[in-house]
Amino acid sequence: MITLEKTTLFKEDTEGSTAVQTADETEQEEKRIIACKNCNYQISTVSEKTTVDDIHIHTFANPHGLLFEIGIYRTADGCALEGPFSGEFTWFTGYSWKIAVCGNCLIHMGWYFGSQSSSFFGIIADRIFEGIE
Ligand SMILES: [Zn+2]
Repeated sequence: MITLEKTTLFKEDTEGSTAVQTADETEQEEKRIIACKNCNYQISTVSEKTTVDDIHIHTFANPHGLLFEIGIYRTADGCALEGPFSGEFTWFTGYSWKIAVCGNCLIHMGWYFGSQSSSFFGIIADRIFEGIE
């Protein structure tokens, strides 16, 4: 009887602390930003991370054989877009792309991909870092 009461109490404590921890983590996650490694300018937020084919980080080679690791983001308001859309050598079937650069220092950040129904940014993983706003 005593053993059973102790077990019940322990279980309630555990559930309580887990719930609080989850709320804190969610709040922290919303405040985390993605910034340009070159100039610290805010490019996007961690909450804008998304996936294509259930994968966030995609690795591709460009026509010159250079490898790029890009992370997929719904939006990247800190990027500026250059030039017209191109469908050449596109990495995602059905999508055209534009070059995306840092809106502050203009370093190449990645690509903006657009189709008739959706769009996203592919940001080069080693040109950004995650930080607190
Ligand atoms: Zn920059």
